[in-house]
Amino acid sequence: MGLPRNRIILSAKLSGVQDLIATYRKLAAACDYALHLGLTEAGLGAKGIIASATAMAVLLQEGIGDTIRVSLTPAPGGDRSEEVRVAQQILQSLELRQFTPQVTACPGCGRTTSTFFQAMAEQIQGHIRERMPAWRAQHPGVEAMTVAVMGCVVNGPGESRQANLGISLPGTFEAPKAPVYVDGRLFTTLHGEGLAQEFIGILEEYVTSHYAAGSDSPVT
Ligand code: SF4
Repeated sequence: MGLPRNRIILSAKLSGVQDLIATYRKLAAACDYALHLGLTEAGLGAKGIIASATAMAVLLQEGIGDTIRVSLTPAPGGDRSEEVRVAQQILQSLELRQFTPQVTACPGCGRTTSTFFQAMAEQIQGHIRERMPAWRAQHPGVEAMTVAVMGCVVNGPGESRQANLGISLPGTFEAPKAPVYVDGRLFTTLHGEGLAQEFIGILEEYVTSHYAAGSDSPVT
């Protein structure tokens, strides 16, 4: 009697990274119940995020774990949805599931003195977050899209070409122009103040033309 095996999920309450890894390895070796992963008290901010990601990445990479949770101590008035975003990002970083387009931004270095690329990366990330509910419904497959926002035209184009859409902004002493790459090819070059908005326009056009309604793979 009792619940059938496929209705049972085991969850171990642990707050140490090494304890979590060791315990779940033993559980996975000892039984075939579904396993729910997560640190019980991951902690505040970066510490909590890094501890959760470190512990779960090891186990998920070994094929251990069926559901996950992230428990973060929120800042006063903080946003609980951060836990969901972190959990999704862990799965997306490991390429286990895709939830939202990924924006790559260069870390910045001596080749750029501008913070424009940081502001633009944030603006694009914000635009994607805002548009995702509609895109998800209308353009299935869009969650696999990659976007690169790079800070100079010396090293930026390489990364920009790897992404579905990429832009390399002018670095220090470089001409004020920003080449845009679409699927690895130079698409256009943008100039001037409306550059971020123009790039967002190209992004919208790309989503509409490459992720057709009712299709779960990019249009080729
Ligand atoms: S893309 Fe350019 S600015 Fe950005 S980190 Fe690389 S070299 Fe530096």
